[in-house]
Amino acid sequence: MIIATTPAQLVEALKPLQGDIGLVMTMGALHEGHLSLVEAARRESDHVVVSIYVNPLQFGPGEDFEAYPRDLEGDVAKLDGVDVVFAPTDESMYPRTPLVRIDPGPVATILEGKTRPTHFAGVLQVVHKVFNLVRPRAAWFGQKDAQQLALIRTMVADLNMPLEIKSVPIKRESSGLAMSSRNSYLSDVEKEQALGLSQALAAGKRVADAGGSAAQTLAVARESLAHAPGIKVDYLELVDRDTFTQLNGSGTGLLVTAAWVGTTRLIDNLEVAIG
Ligand code: AMP
Repeated sequence: MIIATTPAQLVEALKPLQGDIGLVMTMGALHEGHLSLVEAARRESDHVVVSIYVNPLQFGPGEDFEAYPRDLEGDVAKLDGVDVVFAPTDESMYPRTPLVRIDPGPVATILEGKTRPTHFAGVLQVVHKVFNLVRPRAAWFGQKDAQQLALIRTMVADLNMPLEIKSVPIKRESSGLAMSSRNSYLSDVEKEQALGLSQALAAGKRVADAGGSAAQTLAVARESLAHAPGIKVDYLELVDRDTFTQLNGSGTGLLVTAAWVGTTRLIDNLEVAIG
């Protein structure tokens, strides 16, 4: 496995590779959720590239850019069957502040984008750069970041980017907690409290499975989260999984939520079928 720390090193490392490349992009502090993406990429690709980069452009002022867990050595030890790890320095990724920017459009202004207004522009900027550097046949992303996944699919479609976007289901702890690098911020008590998110989504899904309407599904999920101890809700909505606009009638929707447990902001989502 080659570890490239600049775009130039990455390009060199890719030169001898024959066949197609599968790409997995991460911010590191790897857990089983990330590794499920790597596994999926390995199954369908001749070669696999994993990027590990805490992208400053996707963090807003006052967010956890500095505190975000970083453990390149530990991460590399968890990776198996990966040809190249791309772990660039900030200076090599952004030798100057980029002048040409990706505009992620209206979906980037709602839900996650409402609380984190510059987040998705930063995500799409780095995703576009890494796609251009790696030129993968396909890239794997987690359903955990559902709005991000939808925006990446939109970018690829709107800009005719020559690769396939694949998604992998959310990996959860046996408790139901969605795995996240940010779970390392949680105390034992907060980890218990954080179960309120997945439990609220599951409560909504039970209503939908029993034939409940969109409004009933959402109301029960919100009620559950509102009563969960130690949780401050940012949003809980039922949306169309592609447009992320409110789902009112029937169809497949996503219950999406973000909430703070202490000072840690967590997200989760669950697919529900209405009607
Ligand atoms: P991150 O390191 O948080 O930027 O995540 C890198 C990739 O891993 C993204 O495509 C995420 O959606 C995905 N991912 C993160 N957590 C999970 C999880 N629990 N299950 C599946 N995929 C995940």
